[in-house]
Amino acid sequence: MNKITLNMNTFMKPLSVFGLLLCSFVGTSQEVLDFVPEVYTPTEPACVFYEGEFNGFISIPRSQNVIQKMQGGGTACSTFIVTYNGFESFPEAQTAFQFAVDIWSMSIESSQPIRVDATFAALSPGVLGSAGSNSAFTSNHPDAIPNVFYARALWEKIEDMESDTFGGVTIDINANFSSTANWYFGLDANPPGNQTDFVSVVLHELGHGLGFFGGASVDGAGEGEIRFNNIPIVYDTFIQNGTGDAILSFTDPSIALGDQLTGNDLFNISAISTGQNGGVAPKLYLPTSWNQGSSYSHWDESTFNGTINSLMTFAIGQGEANHNPGPMTLGFFEDMGWSICGGSLTVEEFDLAGIEVSPNPFMSSITVKLANNFSDDYTLDLIDINGRVILSEGKTASNGSLTLSNLDNLTSALYFMKLTNVSNGQSITKKIVKK
Ligand SMILES: [Zn+2]
Repeated sequence: MNKITLNMNTFMKPLSVFGLLLCSFVGTSQEVLDFVPEVYTPTEPACVFYEGEFNGFISIPRSQNVIQKMQGGGTACSTFIVTYNGFESFPEAQTAFQFAVDIWSMSIESSQPIRVDATFAALSPGVLGSAGSNSAFTSNHPDAIPNVFYARALWEKIEDMESDTFGGVTIDINANFSSTANWYFGLDANPPGNQTDFVSVVLHELGHGLGFFGGASVDGAGEGEIRFNNIPIVYDTFIQNGTGDAILSFTDPSIALGDQLTGNDLFNISAISTGQNGGVAPKLYLPTSWNQGSSYSHWDESTFNGTINSLMTFAIGQGEANHNPGPMTLGFFEDMGWSICGGSLTVEEFDLAGIEVSPNPFMSSITVKLANNFSDDYTLDLIDINGRVILSEGKTASNGSLTLSNLDNLTSALYFMKLTNVSNGQSITKKIVKK
């Protein structure tokens, strides 16, 4: 790595054109950033995250790898520095926030500190949180795509240097959280049906701040726009429609582009993300009328809600928790330039994505449908709310299906069912209810 340092004699020459800030840097040391990045400062948050309806208990825990590292005091792969505003009266909120930060810091790598400005305050009704990258820069690093914007935290990772000298701002990610929502501040991914899981919401918003956002918008006349100063965001370079046309191939701005952005037919063709989704390019959330802060910069709700990849969908229901960034999102992050903590993803590692459990609530038996037709060996553990394993059975999936029977004598209560793939150790936990 050629570490570039910018010393205090750096001078900046701002040329403000429609909010564009061009900076040139000249240092007295030999190490100089010999490139003039373009700067994009978003005027609206990438995400405005909404309260969803309660649609059943969903509990997706941290990955085994992250749990082991967090419990065993493993070394984090990145360091977050959070400035907390308005959290003084909510110490449990700050604890939960730090828990979400720790999950990300065990999931992605950066040599540079990721600085987050977090505010706990009253937001519009129904809004749980909002977030975005403070700004984004272009890069001429060999690992970067030329002439596209990268979220600050990702830019710093790729360039292996801080970006503080761009206007003197140090914050990479801005995030706001509702102080009036009915939050669940527990860390166990087990919110009751009338509360919203704070850890999941923080994890989601930080995901946007780290780069899960595109540049698209549609105005009231239906005209779509995607570039800023003729430059797209790296996210946009991965998006194409169902017939294979890149979103960046449409005239910008244009009604045709607006039609694409409200056509419910856009997909992310990131190779690693697609691999994590069983070879299918993940679908984006695109309601037929443009919803700023929801459309385009989220995974499709109906496709991914309730799955291991649900974290970056546009809403979260009460009683729903997801403490796993998800293999699809991590795969996309890897393709955008992040490094994944502990090595690259492989398809085999995550074949538990998208499992379904039925019936739920159950009476005498419960069936697990896997998202594939594999016939692997699994361990099924039934765990009570005190964490005791009350039943553990080894099962071989038959055509992607597993059934636990003879459950009539089980006390009516809430349980967790942990499904572990014996060959690769990957597991997922679902919340189930005995009638
Ligand atoms: Zn969001």
